[in-house]
Amino acid sequence: MATKPPKQIEHIGIAVRNLEESVRFYTELIGLKLLGYETVESEKVRVAFLEIGETRLELLEATSPESPIAQFIEKKGEGIHHIALQVDDAVERLDGLKSKGIKLIHEVPKEGAHGNLVAFLHPKSTNGVLLELCQPQVEAKE
Ligand code: ZN
Repeated sequence: MATKPPKQIEHIGIAVRNLEESVRFYTELIGLKLLGYETVESEKVRVAFLEIGETRLELLEATSPESPIAQFIEKKGEGIHHIALQVDDAVERLDGLKSKGIKLIHEVPKEGAHGNLVAFLHPKSTNGVLLELCQPQVEAKE
């Protein structure tokens, strides 16, 4: 059975050192609309979402040195951190990918920003791109 395509790019995650400065750049100089801020305790990050057409940019700032974002910036510097694909069947997809030998960071989805179910696939299995599966909890929430 063919896998159905994800609906769209839910967002692109960008690791930043200073959230306020980055938000100022993307709103004042690029002209994007700020949708809001949120702290995601499980990932030790504070994020800002910016609307761009049907999708969003997610700026991520670490709230602790143990945050995956702090570790990413330490190793690679600021920049694109992940691409999130919107799906409506995260659990089934994770099971399917796992059974095909794809390396997963999360074998079951957990709660991310906006209460969405999220899970990351390991870059070793995705051509070096950290891919997030993002399943909105409530349809048309935004
Ligand atoms: Zn994300």
